[in-house]
Amino acid sequence: MFKFLKQVGDYAKETVQAAKYIGQGLSVTFDHMQRRPVTVQYPYEKLIPSERYRGRIHFEFDKCIACEVCVRVCPINLPVVDWEFNKETKKKKLNHYSIDFGVCIFCGNCVEYCPTNCLSMTEEYELASFDRHELNYDNVALGRLPYKVTDDPMVTPLREFAYLPKGVDDPHDLPPESQRAGQRPEEIMEAMKAGASE
Ligand code: SF4
Ligand code: SF4
Repeated sequence: MFKFLKQVGDYAKETVQAAKYIGQGLSVTFDHMQRRPVTVQYPYEKLIPSERYRGRIHFEFDKCIACEVCVRVCPINLPVVDWEFNKETKKKKLNHYSIDFGVCIFCGNCVEYCPTNCLSMTEEYELASFDRHELNYDNVALGRLPYKVTDDPMVTPLREFAYLPKGVDDPHDLPPESQRAGQRPEEIMEAMKAGASE
């Protein structure tokens, strides 16, 4: 009799425990029903990268003076600057320039310190490749115009949640013309002018 009562007690205890765990699991489920949707239907939809996103580097061959500052400030001395000295003009002549994006950590140092601003970071982030050697971009590949999500007619650009206007919880609800993330330059200038006049 005592053994039977103990078994019933144990069974009741386990039932209560199981109900508690089911309740905990369902509380997570119900909590998610209150949250904003986070799904992006990639590759048909893509998030617009942040204003200062550090993506693939763009290089302007004609502006480069082969000073190699970018190599010295790079934590891994990555950019390869191939130049020769022109005795007639007494200037360096740039032959080739390359950056291997399989190794680059996108820190932006080279862009920051380049004296002629011939390097810039773009919002291009789709660099996946089947062969790592294809990630070694020469000056022609680096000079390609950057890819922009908002210019691609094949995809629907979505704003990141941080950039959604007040009151909009779902990026799919935005009207099609509001494609740019963050403030426009003219809006930033107006805000700066207003701040200066105060
Ligand atoms: S720092 Fe700029 S100008 Fe100098 S070698 Fe690098 S890319 Fe060219
Ligand atoms: S982004 Fe950083 S790691 Fe990449 S080439 Fe420039 S300095 Fe080097």
